[in-house]
This record gives sequence, C-alpha cells and structure tokens, in this order.
Amino acid sequence: MFNTGSSGNLNKVTIMKRILVTGGAGFLGSHLCDRLIKRGDDVLCLDNYFTGTKSNIQHLLNNPNFELIRHDVIDPIHLEVDQIFNLACPASPVHYQYNPVKTIKTSVMGAINMLGLAKRVKARILQASTSEVYGDPDQHPQPESYWGNVNPIGIRSCYDEGKRVAETLCFDYYRQNKVDIRVLRIFNTYGPRLNPDDGRVVSNFIFQALKGEDISIYGDGSQTRSFCYYKDLIDGMIKLMDHDNFTGPMNLGNPGEFTIKELAEKIIQLTGSTSKLIYLDLPLDDPKQRQPDITLAKKMLGWEPRIKLEDGLKETIEYFKGLL
Ligand code: NAD
Ligand code: UDP
Repeated sequence: MFNTGSSGNLNKVTIMKRILVTGGAGFLGSHLCDRLIKRGDDVLCLDNYFTGTKSNIQHLLNNPNFELIRHDVIDPIHLEVDQIFNLACPASPVHYQYNPVKTIKTSVMGAINMLGLAKRVKARILQASTSEVYGDPDQHPQPESYWGNVNPIGIRSCYDEGKRVAETLCFDYYRQNKVDIRVLRIFNTYGPRLNPDDGRVVSNFIFQALKGEDISIYGDGSQTRSFCYYKDLIDGMIKLMDHDNFTGPMNLGNPGEFTIKELAEKIIQLTGSTSKLIYLDLPLDDPKQRQPDITLAKKMLGWEPRIKLEDGLKETIEYFKGLL
C-alpha cells in the first residue's frame, strides 16, 4: 500500500505497512495501535473484547487507516497483512484464571492461527510473551538464557504454560516454515488504560488509594516486581518488530526492582491518600522476585527504559482519577 502524505507529493511516497494487532482493544494493544497510526501505518485491530474495550480505541474509529475486527483468535482468519503483533490474551491473574481452558486455547490456538496466517501471507509476526515463562525464578535477574521454574499444574499454569507453548510454536514455525518471528518477553507493564477491574497490582493500589480504601497487600509484601511504563515498552516492541534479523526471545522491562510494599507506600505518598495497608493471603505460586536482565535489548535495539516509576505512576494516577 502506498501513502503520498497529505501534500500528495509523489517525491514523498512511502510504503505504508498493513499491520494486524490482535488484542488491539486492550491496554498495550490500544497504545500500540495509537503509535502505529501516528507513524502512518494501516492498522487492523482484532479483539473479542474479553478484557479490552471499545473505549480504548474509540478515538481511532474515524481514522481511515484504522479498522476494527471483532474476532476470537482461537478461530482462523484470512487477512492480507505485512506484520502481525499477536497480543490477544488476558494478562491479569484474575482474568486469565477466570476460564483457564479458554486462556490456554487463546495462547496456543491463537498462536497457531496467527503463525499460520504469517506463513501464508509471508508476514513478520511478533509474539507477546511474558516474564511468566520464568515462573518463580531461582535465577535473578532473569536473562533470556534462563529456562525458568514453572509449575505445570498450578493455577497460573494456564497462562505460563500457554505462553511457553506459544514460544515453542514460534520457533517451530521458524525452523520448519521459515516464518519471520520476533518473540518478546514482557515484564510487568503499567499505565493508563489498564482495565480497572482486572486486579493487577498497580491499578488495584491506585484505585484503593484514591478511594481511601485499605490497600490489599497479598502476603507480607516482600515479593518484588519491576514495573515498566507503557511508553517505554511500546518503543521497544516496535523496535524489535522492525529489527531486520533477530528472532529473540528478548526481555523488555524496567530493571528497577521494588517490593510490593514499597509500591503501596509510593502510591499512598503520590496520591496523598489516608489508606492503610492490609495483609491478605498470598495467591498460590505467586513469584517471589522478578527483574529483567535487559543486556540483550540494549545491545540489539539500543533500547532501555527512560521513564522512572514515580513519573509513570503520576500519569497513571491522573488517568484513574478521571475514571472515578
Ligand atoms: P489486556 O487484557 O488489557 O489485553 C489483552 C487483549 O486481548 C484484550 O483486549 C482482550 O479482549 C483481547 N483478547 C483476549 N482473548 C482474546 C481472544 N481469544 N481473541 C481475541 N482477543 C482476545 O492485557 P495487556 O496487558 O494489554 O496484555 C497484552 C499482551 O501482552 C498479552 O498477550 C499479555 O500476555 C502480554 N503481556 C502483558 C504484560 C503486562 O504487564 N501488561 C506483561 C507480560 C505480557
Ligand atoms: N498484588 C497485591 N495486591 C493486589 C494485587 C496484586 O499484593 O491487590 C501482588 C501479587 O500478589 C503479586 C504482585 O502484586 O505478587 C503483582 O501482581 P500482578 O497481578 O499485578 O502481576 P503478576 O503477579 O502477574 O506479576
């Protein structure tokens, strides 16, 4: 597809990519659609609205370069595209444990369908994988070479193992059919458009703090996570997709590591809330620590996160204030 730009000047002709974003109405998917549209691409956003919402992409609906498809990735679909970002999958423990069999189907059959499509139309495909492939890691921080410590039969397994099989499928399609794959392992990412009901820690704590409710810490709050702001993550995701010759897997995330208790205290401080911390049972198999080793991303993409936790949280708090 060709785009002559607003001037119509043929000297400015650029090749416009047609890009499929599955899970495009979700938190990360909708921000990705925004960035691709801004860059001048033709975007097909595919979603079944399980955890995503039309309101996340409402502002794009009148854009002639944006198209919305209601579809479930567990069913095959035929489309002509140059690139596929396969993000469709619930990401929060509450949502992916709601219907675990469906979660596995989404990861595994979704990957088979999208890899099959990539093979047929010779598109490049980026699979949104996760730090959960490392499970409850006994190597810290986690480099891509670490194979992980995942419980195959626990309540998180539908997500963790589904994502691990999706990675396996990517590499088998690559070896067997030369599909042009990019495997991205995303560490905890937060920001505006997180689904307020999905139970993830940043959205839960901000909502509780803004409403003056108790802050629900699971366990003693000593478990750690590394939080990346969505803007940094989307930058890296697009860079990996546009890298000409690198399959991954590649970690992307912010190496700044915080305990969950530290996160709660920071959110209380930034919101000026009077909320108190309460301690509830730790969910089964909750990883004790998580921190990305991003040496590879720095070397291959020249990427590292720029936005500090405090700055990202301030923007996210403003967004959630608007929802209340
Ligand atoms: P999200 O829940 O906001 O977005 C997921 C989107 O996929 C939603 O719009 C949902 O409706 C859609 N979806 C779910 N099942 C589908 C299906 N069967 N068919 C079509 N669409 C379907 O979550 P997110 O945080 O934006 O995550 C996006 C991707 O990134 C996911 O694959 C997730 O596993 C991965 N990821 C996210 C994080 C994070 O911290 N945000 C971390 C690791 C990996
Ligand atoms: N968590 C918490 N209170 C909440 C929600 C989550 O203490 O209200 C903890 C959770 O047990 C985990 C961490 O915060 O240790 C991150 O949880 P989240 O669901 O955001 O992501 P994940 O566990 O998948 O990293």
